[in-house]
Amino acid sequence: MNDLVTLGQRIRHFRTAAGLTLDQLGERVGIAGSQLSLMENGRREPRLTLLSAIAQATGVQVADLLNDAPPSKRAALEIELDRSQKSSIYASLGLPTLRASKAMTDETLEVLVGMHQELARRAREAIATPEEARRANTELRQHMRTLDNYLPEIEDVAERMLAEVGHTTGALTHRSVSRMAELLGFELVHVNDLPHSARSVTDLENGRIYLPPASIPGGHGLRGMALQAMGHRVLGHEHPATYADFLQQRLEINYFAAAVLMPRRQSVEFLSAAKAERNIAVEDFRDAFGVTHEAAALRFTNLATAHLDLEVHFLRVGDDGAVYKAYENDGLRLPVDVTGSTEGQLVCRHWSARTAFTRTNRTTEFYQYTDTPEGTFFESTQTGTTSAEEFSITIGVPFAHSKWFRGRETQNRTRSTCPDENCCRRPEPELSSRWTGKAWSSAKLHAHILSPLPSGTFPGVDDRELYEFLEAHSSQPD
Ligand SMILES: [Zn+2]
Repeated sequence: MNDLVTLGQRIRHFRTAAGLTLDQLGERVGIAGSQLSLMENGRREPRLTLLSAIAQATGVQVADLLNDAPPSKRAALEIELDRSQKSSIYASLGLPTLRASKAMTDETLEVLVGMHQELARRAREAIATPEEARRANTELRQHMRTLDNYLPEIEDVAERMLAEVGHTTGALTHRSVSRMAELLGFELVHVNDLPHSARSVTDLENGRIYLPPASIPGGHGLRGMALQAMGHRVLGHEHPATYADFLQQRLEINYFAAAVLMPRRQSVEFLSAAKAERNIAVEDFRDAFGVTHEAAALRFTNLATAHLDLEVHFLRVGDDGAVYKAYENDGLRLPVDVTGSTEGQLVCRHWSARTAFTRTNRTTEFYQYTDTPEGTFFESTQTGTTSAEEFSITIGVPFAHSKWFRGRETQNRTRSTCPDENCCRRPEPELSSRWTGKAWSSAKLHAHILSPLPSGTFPGVDDRELYEFLEAHSSQPD
């Protein structure tokens, strides 16, 4: 059955064309005019026998009534208005529904329909589809490559703030982070009822930054979270208008937090000394500043090219071989899909990001030379575990730079010809002939690939949950 509104419009069209009133047609087909009116307004479905009677009485075929085209331009507008008002976007506005009465001019209808179309277009635009999100993500990675992953303006801001709290050396304490918040007019408050969709919440009116409980295991992430929340303020962020803005801001607050936790001057001093000793190791950098291996490796990519004259690549790869995060400015060919996106793509089985998983002793970094069509790379990989999966963090450099790194004497060497499928994607011929057509597996959904996308309300935090949270906390001392 085509939709009732169009059907009703067609009945009305042929009734008036036949010069009949509602009551006159009703009388001929054996129902009350009021019942017929409900059908013409698309609010009641006529039986097929009644449709035949109506067709006969108005001198048309049943097929004419059932045709799904609007019978006139006016009818098309009325149908469109009706549809628009039934949409969930319109329903969310809580406004009354207008019925396109005869008294409504064509012009009024056109204006209303035009505004509804624009409302729908803007709503579509505000939702980042996974495809748009991936494109924005790829553009940002490519842009950061042109900057060698280095943002000196944010480095400057971080250095100024560190100077203000008198931090000179070593790992940054919680105390210094709190002092920094105070200087910005904020108090850090740990709560265990943050909105599910928020990592932190800032109450601008009462000057508070709410964070998860201070007692969560491995609470070193808390300094970073507090700094990221401050980053939005320090860097003057406004509400993001697009998904690209949202990603850019997220990158900037992460960068800011890293630049505070691993300050530029001290980090460059530390890494330059390691380079002079031909002993660069991400694990030492990590331990000197009390951060995670991933944070240290990412921070290394910020400073490596600008301050140590090293081109690098970074990979965070899951135990299934899929890229979670990647960066390169050293010519390594990252696996990408047709849109140029690398997240979720499988890295070569022979890269150290994957061979490291096969090792039994994982307490230290794993070193390997990898020959690729783009040249030979030296890579250093640390594996780790989250509650959900194992992952590996890799920092790699072109062969010529390997002399500055710990582990350069490794005998591990593999050969990768990816993206050539014969490298590691295609099964061995004897296995193919044995198993083709005799196996079936059900694929895992890569939740982590979609997780960076804002869900629900853009940019991802539910306003109702957020405001209820703020209301509850601002009315009571924590
Ligand atoms: Zn391969």
